Amino acid sequence: MDHVRPLPSYLVQRFHGWRATTYAENGAWYRRLAEDGQRPRAMVISCCDSRVHVTSIFGADQGEFFIHRNIANLVPPYAPDGDHHGTSAAVEYAVTTLKVAHLIVLGHSQCGGVLGCHAMCTGQAPELERETSFVGKWLGILRPGFERVAGVPEAERITALERESVIISLENLMTFPFVKTALADGQMTLHGLWTDIGEGRLLQYDAAARGFVPL
Ligand SMILES: [Zn+2]
Repeated sequence: MDHVRPLPSYLVQRFHGWRATTYAENGAWYRRLAEDGQRPRAMVISCCDSRVHVTSIFGADQGEFFIHRNIANLVPPYAPDGDHHGTSAAVEYAVTTLKVAHLIVLGHSQCGGVLGCHAMCTGQAPELERETSFVGKWLGILRPGFERVAGVPEAERITALERESVIISLENLMTFPFVKTALADGQMTLHGLWTDIGEGRLLQYDAAARGFVPL
């Protein structure tokens, strides 16, 4: 493990700053969080993109959201094949152990992952189509979405595909038996959101309208 280095000093300084202020002022609350364990009300599946700030847009504190992030906020179909499935594991834990009341998929504007999927599906990203590309393989989950947005005018197609990343994830969640059971029992509700980073807007999927409507 010789390749592991000490943290850069700017991060060390930031940590000490947090400990001297936020932590010092709320020490008892942090200790209670540690002792009581977590009881988050919601799980959020969002993109890794550093501009997507789930806790900030909902004003959420520690302990409120069980958050899983991956490229393009995708949930793969249920596949109990013995392989390593990080996203499916997080969903299983949130639904069956934490018993979250809400499962939220959050997509976003200017998503590089969605753009990559579009490039791959239009033959402009051969590197993503290689068998060894983890990114390409992962973005393949969104391929059915590319077919669905084929008729959308070009200027709106990427946004439409970003929203498909949410819809496909919601559809794939329904292939997990424990998700289906939790929904049928009324233990949990499913939600689809898409945020416009530049405009600070949030839209939700409306099943009746079969589309996204502003909040
Ligand atoms: Zn993204």
